[in-house]
Amino acid sequence: MKSYEFVIIGGGLVGSAIAYGLARAGHQVCVLDEGDIAFRASRGNFGLVWVQGKGQEIPSYSDWSMSSASLWPGLEDELYELTGISTQHQAPGGVHLCYSMDEMRDRQSSLDSLSRATQGRFQFEMLDHNQLRKLIPEIGESVVGASWSRQDGHANPLYLLRALHSAILQQGGSYHACGPVRKIHQEAGSFTVDCGQQRVHAARVVLAAGLGNRKLAPQVGLEAALVPNRGEILVTERVRPLLKLPTTYLRQTGEGSILMGDSHEDVGFDDGTETNVMSHIAQRAVAALPALANTRVVRAWGALRVMTPDGYPLYQASEVHPGAFIACCHSGVTLAAAHVKRLAPWIAGDTQPTEISSFTSERFNVQTATSV
Ligand SMILES: Cc1cc2nc3c(=O)[nH]c(=O)nc-3n(C[C@H](O)[C@H](O)[C@H](O)COP(=O)(O)OP(=O)(O)OC[C@H]3O[C@@H](n4cnc5c(N)ncnc54)[C@H](O)[C@@H]3O)c2cc1C
Repeated sequence: MKSYEFVIIGGGLVGSAIAYGLARAGHQVCVLDEGDIAFRASRGNFGLVWVQGKGQEIPSYSDWSMSSASLWPGLEDELYELTGISTQHQAPGGVHLCYSMDEMRDRQSSLDSLSRATQGRFQFEMLDHNQLRKLIPEIGESVVGASWSRQDGHANPLYLLRALHSAILQQGGSYHACGPVRKIHQEAGSFTVDCGQQRVHAARVVLAAGLGNRKLAPQVGLEAALVPNRGEILVTERVRPLLKLPTTYLRQTGEGSILMGDSHEDVGFDDGTETNVMSHIAQRAVAALPALANTRVVRAWGALRVMTPDGYPLYQASEVHPGAFIACCHSGVTLAAAHVKRLAPWIAGDTQPTEISSFTSERFNVQTATSV
């Protein structure tokens, strides 16, 4: 039976970023992951490091996303130096395409209000078709314009996950794909975690099991009212450079494939694909980039987002089981740098970043909220 300072349950992007953040600060960490049969958003996502439009209802989320985006270049360099794996992170800015003047007006109005709510820290510009064409020469005629923000970018999420796993090991941490953790027990200030045939002890435990947190959270006095939300993504064969900056629904990878996404489907725990959804995604992509009409799609998949009722993250320390924490969000790529450099230090005992102080489950409890 082994003892650690921290056990992190879940080795997706959230758990791995936290584990690496703790390990790089000299803490002894162990990651326990369910393995291949689990739902794993980190292996099926789109790869945007995205700020534009985030935080409409809670502006501190915009600040949290911007903080992460600004920490990303340092994370990319650090991971490359340590592991030799590049995440292909780039921050060339990003665009959200609009297909009608009404869409342009709505987009401008919502981004204006976000910019005001952040006292101008979130910045954007609206581009008409001709301005957009300078950035994307092959843009389709049906695209009226776009919103553009220099704070956006993208990365390869699979390389990011691989780099984080490798970096955890390099910093002396351990990673076990041991099957699902079913039981967490705290006694005399120490947690005992059972995972398959393994039993480990730790002074602190971090629940970062994505949708798996639903069953684990109550065991340490926390709540995780998470729901799955499916997104489908199509990938083309490698093509010549068509997109030098990512859009909300289209991005070109470092290897040349075009990723097309993404749907938002309320279908429970079904992570399959549907022809009508894929057809809609492909048609929208061809409207944006007509050159894609003759390009072959080589792969498609569905994956489940880890969604809270309001879509914002959940970061919380347990009051009844001191030393237990939960972390989940639906932007694990964007937020990876903040999770490494700002969330992990809080879990290790530093002051909590001010941007995330309201992201506890109490916001979903109407009685508590109104009686405060
Ligand atoms: C289609 C789609 C597109 C997306 N696009 C983007 C994007 O462009 N940019 C962005 O920032 N984010 C994006 N996301 C969101 C992003 O993928 C998630 O925020 C992120 O992957 C969540 O990571 P996670 O580690 O919390 O969850 P997961 O990746 O689901 O990982 C959870 C891990 O916990 C393990 N686990 C589960 N239960 C247990 C248990 N009981 N015991 C032990 N281990 C357990 C699983 O094996 C898994 O590895 C997208 C998501 C989807 C689905």
